[in-house]
Amino acid sequence: MIKFRAELHVHTVLSACAGTDMLPKPIVEAALFNEINLIAITDHNASYNAAPVMKVGSREGLLVLPGMELETEEEVHSICLFDTLDQLNELQKIVDARLPFYPNNEDFYGPQWVVDEKGNKLRPEKRQLLFPVQISIQKACKIVKDLGGLFIPAHINREANGLLSHLGTVPPDLDVQILEINRRTTKEACIKRFPELARYCIIQSGDVHYLDGFLGANLFTARNTTLKAITEAMLSSL
Ligand SMILES: [Zn+2]
Ligand SMILES: [Zn+2]
Repeated sequence: MIKFRAELHVHTVLSACAGTDMLPKPIVEAALFNEINLIAITDHNASYNAAPVMKVGSREGLLVLPGMELETEEEVHSICLFDTLDQLNELQKIVDARLPFYPNNEDFYGPQWVVDEKGNKLRPEKRQLLFPVQISIQKACKIVKDLGGLFIPAHINREANGLLSHLGTVPPDLDVQILEINRRTTKEACIKRFPELARYCIIQSGDVHYLDGFLGANLFTARNTTLKAITEAMLSSL
């Protein structure tokens, strides 16, 4: 059995809203400094920096899951986690086909960098990534599940891009078991306000945009390092 301290929502310099030092090595070092041994890379509607962080993580003893923070047509954010880059790449293809093309205005939004494992800037992503992908949250959830991934509505308590503020509740036809809250609330406070959330597993993430933003709030013990085992462990202990 493996004891995990997990932070499953981490941005890199590919997200215009993230700090300029959110590069593979500093991210891995900051996670380990906070005694976190499992992270997921979840940039907005994009996946290109997951691979370099996974490479550094595997060298340094940090398990890094490939992921994405998807914005669906309801303007709700959800984190999508996978075991492999191949699965994530399949999701990226679907996102690419359904994300409206607006050139990124770097002066307004900030740059979006694709980097290598040493943190070298390979290219700027020219398309503005922070727009809703033209797909419903229910459909996106099914696509991620069919790919073998895990779909978790993100920062559900947040006004901006949170499921509760945009949709009022968890839609009954949304096939999820795990929900994410951010650092500004507690599971207890959320359930007090929305009693229907009591039947869900609620994880808490730092939604890490800066190196000092790691929370590491999710502690659980899993059979192995697969997403299936990690999911089961979260469902049984959080
Ligand atoms: Zn978000
Ligand atoms: Zn985020």
